[in-house]
Amino acid sequence: MELRKDPLTRSWVMTGDDLPELAPRPETECRLCPGSPEQAKLQQISTRPSVQGGPWSARAVVHPGAVYHIEGRIDRRGEGIYDRMPNVGAHELLIENPKHDRQLWNAGDAEVEQFLLLVAQRIQDLKGDARFRYISVFKNFGPGSGQEFAHPNSQLTATTFIPRRVLYELRAGLDYYNQKERCVFCDILAQETAASTRIIEVRGDFVAACPYASRAPYETWILSRAHDSSFEHHALNHPQSMRDLAGLLRRTLQRIRTLTESFHMVLHTSPNKFHASASLGYWQTLDEDYHWHIEILPILAAKAKSYTFKEVYYSPVTPETAAARLREASVEI
Ligand SMILES: [Zn+2]
Ligand SMILES: [Zn+2]
Ligand SMILES: [Zn+2]
Repeated sequence: MELRKDPLTRSWVMTGDDLPELAPRPETECRLCPGSPEQAKLQQISTRPSVQGGPWSARAVVHPGAVYHIEGRIDRRGEGIYDRMPNVGAHELLIENPKHDRQLWNAGDAEVEQFLLLVAQRIQDLKGDARFRYISVFKNFGPGSGQEFAHPNSQLTATTFIPRRVLYELRAGLDYYNQKERCVFCDILAQETAASTRIIEVRGDFVAACPYASRAPYETWILSRAHDSSFEHHALNHPQSMRDLAGLLRRTLQRIRTLTESFHMVLHTSPNKFHASASLGYWQTLDEDYHWHIEILPILAAKAKSYTFKEVYYSPVTPETAAARLREASVEI
């Protein structure tokens, strides 16, 4: 397996004839449930203490079908005009809850809070490895999402490159800052809060909203009103605020689930500052110009094919309508 760079879009593509099968496979017994013999074989990385009577609250293990491997040097090699490198990185499974049926939308806020703190800890730890430029945390849930395990889980990858979409955001954030000396995300939040048409819910310092140019129907972002470029910095320095984020995340997923079961969710946080990038002005203003957030992209099965229309995102529901429907969806307190 190796990574190849597309010289036109600068995206990295993983390829190889030995890629593990990514499709969900039937499981007779859940291999992530505590007590299962399969679970005991997984390589443990970090565990958060129990909060509601279980053996633990959230746990990181090495992904049993890891597509990145921690050992090795990053040899970027040229092949004529092309670039390639080995798939060095980390691939972890973040088990959100020891109980098989307690997902982020039906677990207690204290449990979700522990999961968020595990995420922050893992990102901080992996940023200590100078080889890794970016740590991605994401969740795929439901049919058509690429979900691999039935047990409540998210995944983490540490990569030697920055994923393309994050790079777009970093460049746009830097350009905006260079022009206005303000964070574009803080400005968006201020305008959205004043207009309120695309706001779904505010809880403590956190806001759930449908972005102005949503890529998919009911696309929802969660942002913090307190500016911070890095989620892990925010979470570990203000752990008490994670209870509000947990509650807002739980309720937002409940709202989305009134419309569809399936979704992708991704956390966008700052890249590893060990690597200074010339094209991004050596990230001197990264702490000021970037702002962490969570993006949720619901998957509406019937509409899946129409999202891209001649390479332009096409969303048949405006974010104003989406926010209004999500606001009115019934959720638990
Ligand atoms: Zn399970
Ligand atoms: Zn900001
Ligand atoms: Zn983003």
